[in-house]
Amino acid sequence: MLHVGAPRTSPESGGRAASPAAHAALVDQRAAHNYAPLPVVAASGEGAWVTDVEGRRYLDCLAAYSAVNFGHANPTVLAAARAQLDRLTLVSRAFGHDQLGPFVAGLGDLVGKEMVLPMNTGAEAVESGVKVARKWGYEVKGVAPGRANIVVMAGNFHGRTTTIVGFSDDPEARGGYGPFTPGFRTVPYGDGAAVAAAVDEDTVAVLLEPVQGEAGVIVPPARFLPEVREICTREGVLMIADEVQSGLARTGRTLAVQHSGVVADVYLLGKALGGGVVPVSAVVADADVLGVLRPGQHGSTFGGNPLACAVGRAVVGMLAGGEWQERARRLGEHLDGRLRELVGAGVTAVRSLGLWAGVDVDPGLGTGREVCLALAERGILVKDTHGSTIRLAPPLVVEPAELDWAVDQLADVLARLAAHSGHRS
Ligand SMILES: *Cc1c(COP(=O)(O)O)cnc(C)c1O
Repeated sequence: MLHVGAPRTSPESGGRAASPAAHAALVDQRAAHNYAPLPVVAASGEGAWVTDVEGRRYLDCLAAYSAVNFGHANPTVLAAARAQLDRLTLVSRAFGHDQLGPFVAGLGDLVGKEMVLPMNTGAEAVESGVKVARKWGYEVKGVAPGRANIVVMAGNFHGRTTTIVGFSDDPEARGGYGPFTPGFRTVPYGDGAAVAAAVDEDTVAVLLEPVQGEAGVIVPPARFLPEVREICTREGVLMIADEVQSGLARTGRTLAVQHSGVVADVYLLGKALGGGVVPVSAVVADADVLGVLRPGQHGSTFGGNPLACAVGRAVVGMLAGGEWQERARRLGEHLDGRLRELVGAGVTAVRSLGLWAGVDVDPGLGTGREVCLALAERGILVKDTHGSTIRLAPPLVVEPAELDWAVDQLADVLARLAAHSGHRS
């Protein structure tokens, strides 16, 4: 029940309260506390910039965890979405519609696979990948009923459903949500020998992120993905690459596995596939894998809806020419060079691939969140992860000078924290 004096909205304000503080209070009171957002209340966005309810501008260096790879209000994506809004938005897969075929064909071609299973969120793509891998294991590989196992990585992040958090090793993500789905084995990320040792005759898949995003942009050793590929091929196991965050140009390639010259059997895509407009995800694989699904065996009311497909088509069209990938690669090189200047000056390590960087702040200076708060005050949005790591993933439309400005601000924040803590670097 609402307390007396609780912040309220009026119909005239369209559900919007006035000041950032009023917004925050309303959210604090009425939204579940499953996030602890920075005190920024965005009202509009364009390109790499977001404007708050009082007109303050922020350089968005998170891009909704890469869901906004092509920038806020990307004109190509918006045009496709607007045109589709006026034509047809939803029929469910009970009927056909004219956006589905071109979307799945285009996405399949983009990543070099025969078939696409369209879903909505990244977690749904992962869940669907798990189901498909198990079914493939029983029907194609010949695993005895009920015995399929999937090898997963320590430090993984694949979403928030009960099955997925069940094979997370993050106590925050899984605590209090059991009992969990059996059939998963965890090995250290980057350890090919451990993968080989975990695989047995009942293993149907190895599920991994080519770069672990939530874990702090962890790039595995160069030999790891080729090793996993070799193990999977030798043992008759599906290699499933969760490219929900790493895919679709963020790392400088269409897929992050391409940096290692590896072709996975199954790709899980999401985030950027929705163009920053709607949730669009997909499981992409050849017909010998996705073909195990027959009518009635899997589905989603919203998966593959006309609006999602129209937006997804626009995204696929933008990626087909390779310019976005190239831009991410060039900008990423620039950002990486600038961030490396900070190592030893408040930063203990920098990891990056494409325009995606994890920056470990010297824990003696402060937490990642303190750094993020200080940066937000200066007009830069970034997100901490795991203690003192901050993660940078600006929209790919960002300009080099804007990256320079953000890094300069970060350097200044770290210098001030160092002065404050009497820390010498
Ligand atoms: C974000 C993410 C997911 C989950 O996507 P949602 O759309 O939030 O469900 C899955 N895998 C990876 C690697 C992610 O980064």
